[in-house]
Amino acid sequence: MSSLVSVVAPIYNEGPGVDRFVRRLTEVLGDAGLRYELVLVDDGSSDDSWDRIVQQAVADEHVRGIQLSRNFGKEPAVLAGLEHAAGDAVVVIDSDLQHPPGAIPAMVQRWRDGAHVVEAVKRNRTGQGIVSKLGGKVFNRAFTGLTKVDLVNATDFRLLSRPAVDALLKMPEHSSFFRGTSSWIGFRRTTIEVEIDHRTGGASRWTFKSLFRLAVNGLTSFTSAPLHLVTLVGLAFAAFSVLLGTQTLIRWLRGASVAGFPTVILLLLVMGTFVLLGLGVIGEYLARIHEEVRGRPRYLVQEKSAQSATTAVPEQ
Ligand code: UDP
Ligand code: MG
Repeated sequence: MSSLVSVVAPIYNEGPGVDRFVRRLTEVLGDAGLRYELVLVDDGSSDDSWDRIVQQAVADEHVRGIQLSRNFGKEPAVLAGLEHAAGDAVVVIDSDLQHPPGAIPAMVQRWRDGAHVVEAVKRNRTGQGIVSKLGGKVFNRAFTGLTKVDLVNATDFRLLSRPAVDALLKMPEHSSFFRGTSSWIGFRRTTIEVEIDHRTGGASRWTFKSLFRLAVNGLTSFTSAPLHLVTLVGLAFAAFSVLLGTQTLIRWLRGASVAGFPTVILLLLVMGTFVLLGLGVIGEYLARIHEEVRGRPRYLVQEKSAQSATTAVPEQ
């Protein structure tokens, strides 16, 4: 039997976009003559997205829907999709049609040619993905530098082979960061260039707060560099204090009057800032540890669309 390709898409309040998305994918995958399934994960939408998914699932046996019990965020939604996908290759794609579904057949071809991970990278840099919105390139560069996980021009639009998916699912982290983890696993990889389209409907779901969380999660789960930085800054300040102390002592011994009220205030401020920042950085890691230790499930499924026998997948 020919191999099965799963397409996983997280959906949050996409409304009519759901139908558009399914239509477009059916077109592309059908034309390519692939054996496929569409795994649509409703990330606790408050609009009619879930109803539309169910309708699509009823109408087309290729479509399966999973509804999370509330809005968990894109990362857990993708994870839910990966865990429920049965394919020999799994493609993760945004449901807002910003990732061109037309690229999927080419990605599948690369996989057939032996790649385990096929990443779609942006050809046009004008897109306004997560990274560009976060003050973009700076974050990207810093992240890449600190974590050795290359994010520049990367997207979440990826194909993973079954072994790669299984490897990814073995990672027990609570705060997963798909773009990072799917690079971390390694495996034979290749990239294809795609045009990232502008949003066709609705608005981007990212708020500054959620982007900031993503950035902090991404960093803390991939590197301890900020912690080491805090230590280094602490050491630098210690050295500085010793120097300043020595100088002051010498001047005092020589009988010079030791002025410098402003200096004291300034130093207090600077020190205070670094101490608080340092505590904050440590706190972030502590929060991560706390989260991991609690070990709560990363998402909860409320409902699944009725499955027709042909696409039924063994449960885990
Ligand atoms: N999404 C989700 N849960 C959320 C936010 C977004 O499942 O809490 C989905 C959304 O439906 C879309 C994808 O994640 O398919 C990317 O979201 P969006 O287009 O808002 O992000 P951007 O393209 O601006 O990075
Ligand atoms: Mg988008």
